[in-house]
Amino acid sequence: MLRLILLAKPRGFCAGVVRAVDIVEKVLQKHGAPIFVKHEIVHNRRVVDGFRRRGVQFIEDPDEAPEGAVLVYSAHGVSKEVRRKANKRRQQIYDATCPLVTKVHSEIVRRRAAGDEVVMIGHRGHPEVEGALGQCEDGVYLVENEADADALSPRDSRRLSFVTQTTLSVDDTASLAAYLLRRFPHIRAPRRDDICYATQNRQDAVKKMAAVCDAILVVGSPASSNSNRLCEVAARAGVSAYRIDGAAEIRSEWLQNVAVAGVTAGASAPEPLVQEVVARLRELCNPNCEIKEMDGEEERVVFVAPKSLSRGNAGAHL
Ligand code: SF4
Repeated sequence: MLRLILLAKPRGFCAGVVRAVDIVEKVLQKHGAPIFVKHEIVHNRRVVDGFRRRGVQFIEDPDEAPEGAVLVYSAHGVSKEVRRKANKRRQQIYDATCPLVTKVHSEIVRRRAAGDEVVMIGHRGHPEVEGALGQCEDGVYLVENEADADALSPRDSRRLSFVTQTTLSVDDTASLAAYLLRRFPHIRAPRRDDICYATQNRQDAVKKMAAVCDAILVVGSPASSNSNRLCEVAARAGVSAYRIDGAAEIRSEWLQNVAVAGVTAGASAPEPLVQEVVARLRELCNPNCEIKEMDGEEERVVFVAPKSLSRGNAGAHL
């Protein structure tokens, strides 16, 4: 019978997500509905549905919004082409790209300007990757696995750099980076690891939790890269792990013979979802089971909203 629910620390919203959600809130207050957001502001159904009900329209291309509309770029960042299209339509832009993603964009542009070709370790089709690959017209290549690395044929293997998607599994990235280094001994690594502090901390917390849990529930939507990686990290540590969008998805058969259940949340999942999951676990298994938060990293990172959202400033044409 379930006797203990352990909560990971840290879990849930990171500084980039807090900032992105705050930007949409402020833009809504300032301009009123409808406003447009390029892609889901963060990959969480509850957050996105909440904004949708208040008149936010999520689109994939600036051409889907009218000329002059208010448009927010999501936390995942956008390509140069998206910026060009939005400018052409004279849309009022607010940029909620996470500053850590912007840092990767700058690194790509800097390396290309210095004459390197750039390899990005990441997942095909993820909006962060599409935005990053779209920082330059050419010379930036996606590598998802060793086969991709084998297929690479740079113009000059001495003029090669790599960067990584921010929300990957730390272990996967390290092993692919090591593979790239073996294949291209002169490849330049990023000045500092691109994996963000929040991804690293949440994965470390799951590893710690996996050592003492019989099963782990990861709260996060299907498209949330970092939530899926948390599941993989737990599974790799030998614990059954399940990603759920919310309490309604918990299945009682997962909890048979589970005495200690761990709960964590991806960087885009709000805390009320976690509390609903805890309540549902108690309801399903044992209304008196103990709840404890594990010791873990205290996060103090804060990213502030852009200046254009302070009073009196209009959205910028970026
Ligand atoms: Fe930024 Fe990291 Fe959060 Fe992604 S997970 S939004 S890179 S802080």
